[in-house]
Amino acid sequence: MKNSAPTRSDSLIAHLVQLSGLRKRDDLLSGITQALLETINAPKVAIFGLVHDENRQFWLPLTEALPGEKVRFVTDPMRGDPDMMAPVDSDPARHQCLNRMEVVVTPPTATDPAYVTRFPMTVAEGATLWGVAEISSPQPLTPADWQDATRLVTMYGNILDMLDYSERDALTGLWNRKPFDDLFYKTLKPTEPQQADQSPDGVEHRAANAPSNFWLAMVDIDHFKAVNDTYGHLIGDEVLILVARLLKTSFRAYDRVYRFGGEEFLVVLRSADHDAAVAAVERFRANMAAYEFPQAGHITASVGVTEIVTGDSPAAACERADQAVYYAKHHGRNQVCSEADLVRRGLLKVDLKVGDVELF
Ligand code: GH3
Ligand code: MG
Ligand code: MG
Repeated sequence: MKNSAPTRSDSLIAHLVQLSGLRKRDDLLSGITQALLETINAPKVAIFGLVHDENRQFWLPLTEALPGEKVRFVTDPMRGDPDMMAPVDSDPARHQCLNRMEVVVTPPTATDPAYVTRFPMTVAEGATLWGVAEISSPQPLTPADWQDATRLVTMYGNILDMLDYSERDALTGLWNRKPFDDLFYKTLKPTEPQQADQSPDGVEHRAANAPSNFWLAMVDIDHFKAVNDTYGHLIGDEVLILVARLLKTSFRAYDRVYRFGGEEFLVVLRSADHDAAVAAVERFRANMAAYEFPQAGHITASVGVTEIVTGDSPAAACERADQAVYYAKHHGRNQVCSEADLVRRGLLKVDLKVGDVELF
């Protein structure tokens, strides 16, 4: 048997095999960045995501790879501030790449001495659905480079499709319960500032100690059983789809909405303080109360809000939010109740040992 040096197609296949074994979005994103860098033998690869926020679109720098270095996560999508991001039209070549779904090459310029070849791709990190992989090179990429880069980003997109299939609710398209825990733990500030920087795979992870507060809202549709009983399950399902749409449009791009159970939804939202978080949730409640559902007319929801605190767990936070929902249900429905407010007013009791609350 001939013992030859690994060929380029060996390297491509090795990367495809490695990518196909990854199941976490962060690992996949760093994996595709690394695979592009090594297969093309490029001096630099960077991936940008497109973020939609209130009818505006922005570029979110996601990853960057240089030879011999660990892939760097540039911005944490959960903590990125749209007000600080570059608008979509600030980079015409990148914009054209996504807009027309075509590879766009630009020659060296006075400020960038490299050819930059941009490949459109799916990035699917939260609200970011599409992105661009930018490969810098001293010479134009060859047709073989184009083919390999296209194969890699296509494979990556196919894996994300499979992940989406298992992590999204088929009826509403919202995230299901499965990815909730993962995201929840990402919202927690590490107690040791360096703790989250290095994972066992040697990939550098996002610094998670930026000052930012996260809140959990639990939304439960009021008298939903009556909607089903009066109009039938198909209309009930339609209401769930429309509530999901109202939730998506009422919150910001970096907030995440989950279908938690039948007619219960969870929102993990970022907010500077308690009052702003409650105001954001109240905006949704009012939008929903004002909305006229086809056939079923006006339907309301009761919402419980709680802060996600250091050392929190998904079960404890859901329990606190649920107690606030319970209070809302027993005090007229169609309202937002803050767990902190209820505790402060002596209407809920906190058991500090387990982080649970008890209703008076
Ligand atoms: P409350 O105001 O106290 O929340 O009353 P409710 O009727 O909304 O509460 P309950 O939990 O008693 O009823 C929830 C209903 O949601 C019962 C179930 O039939 C319905 N449901 C759950 N999942 C689905 C679904 O996927 N489709 C439809 N159409 N109905 C669903
Ligand atoms: Mg319920
Ligand atoms: Mg209900």
